[in-house]
Amino acid sequence: MRKADESLSRKRSRLLKILDRLARSIPDPATELDFHTPFELLVATVLSAQTTDKTVNRVTPRLFTRYPTPSALSQADLPELEEILRPTGFFRRKALHAKALAEAIESRFQGAVPPRMEDLLTLPGVGRKTASVVLYHAFGQPAIFVDTHVGRVSRRLGLTESSDPEGVESDLARLIPKEGWGIAASRLLLHGRTVCLARAPRCEACTLPPLCPAWPGQPPLQNDPEGLD
Ligand code: SF4
Repeated sequence: MRKADESLSRKRSRLLKILDRLARSIPDPATELDFHTPFELLVATVLSAQTTDKTVNRVTPRLFTRYPTPSALSQADLPELEEILRPTGFFRRKALHAKALAEAIESRFQGAVPPRMEDLLTLPGVGRKTASVVLYHAFGQPAIFVDTHVGRVSRRLGLTESSDPEGVESDLARLIPKEGWGIAASRLLLHGRTVCLARAPRCEACTLPPLCPAWPGQPPLQNDPEGLD
């Protein structure tokens, strides 16, 4: 069976089994970014571009001790802020973005991160992925965040053929019940970070064969008792 030929209901059924296995291998798919408030998570997510969550976690305690609120961060001394953000790379641009973001939250949303996608997308430096991370992890709302890992894993698993994050998001949204969006995206992301790696997927350590069409030992899906039927 070609991936494109798989019906929506069979794909949903296969995805449920995939998510069930991922739930066992990744029981607690919390974000790896440390945060206490929606503001901290929003800033940390913006800072995580082009670097690792661990690096961001190294700078945010100092950052949020020095600038604990949008008001404080909006008035930050730029050279001092740059120095704090230096380990994250692209620190000059990130310092400008962080200040602009804090100013917008302070001036347009009374200092509180807005809990709505439409509002979050109006903030400087905030795209759909960042907004979805904040909606799910900070506000507990259903949201699917598509980063490079979620996109790659979803394509390998035959859940989408789209290379565009919004296309991946919309394909996943059709397959996953809304209440499960955030936790499913979290598990796909962590699976991509730890097992289904970009250059050399660790299929030998993966719990998903034979549900994965990209698994090298994949027999035809329709003959797989653990797969579609
Ligand atoms: S079997 Fe391999 S390609 Fe498929 S999800 Fe697992 S690691 Fe990725």
